[in-house]
Amino acid sequence: MAVSKDDIKVKGMTVGKVLFTEEQIIERATELGRQITEDYAGKQLIVLGMIKGAVLWMSELVKHIDLDVKLDFIAASSYGSSTTSSGVVKVKKDVEMDLYKKDVLIVEDIVDTGTTLAFMQKYLAERGPSSVKICSMLDKPSRRTENGARVDYTGFQVEDLFVIGYGLDYDEKFRNLPYVSYLEPEDVDKL
Ligand code: 5GP
Repeated sequence: MAVSKDDIKVKGMTVGKVLFTEEQIIERATELGRQITEDYAGKQLIVLGMIKGAVLWMSELVKHIDLDVKLDFIAASSYGSSTTSSGVVKVKKDVEMDLYKKDVLIVEDIVDTGTTLAFMQKYLAERGPSSVKICSMLDKPSRRTENGARVDYTGFQVEDLFVIGYGLDYDEKFRNLPYVSYLEPEDVDKL
């Protein structure tokens, strides 16, 4: 989808150029879905989406996983209304399925410091799953901390920008943009 910068003055804020178009995201979800299908051949898989940010990416990805798949969701908070991490992770909506001896794939929108997913991996390990892996649409490797989670399946790497769209928000806005963009750094400084 071709989007000019003039098109994306959204909700009174200037957003940066398009980093990844809908077509690019769908293509990458297709590739990763096929890879996951091969890697988990013959197995059942619980795909566990992180609410709310991962919902758009998860819906693309699972269409291309040709396995016995079950879907569940979990919600954790690490970012509030600001653009910096609080470092404190809380589970706001828990997983509903029994994960004992199951293969679990956590689907996330973006991995930044990796704090949220490192917490989540430990939290889910208490349910006795066979495996817990991570598929994230975006990865900011330059921001990863020493104890941050490792991503098993990455859609795209991004530099240290505050990205929005395709599920990602700023203060609950922009989640429905059908592409990934970013807030201009000078605007982020003013927030
Ligand atoms: P981490 O714990 O890896 O530092 O942060 C993970 C969570 O922070 C993501 O699930 C996402 O909700 C939020 N986050 C991190 N970086 C960004 C960003 O650039 N844009 C937005 N919208 N959220 C981000």
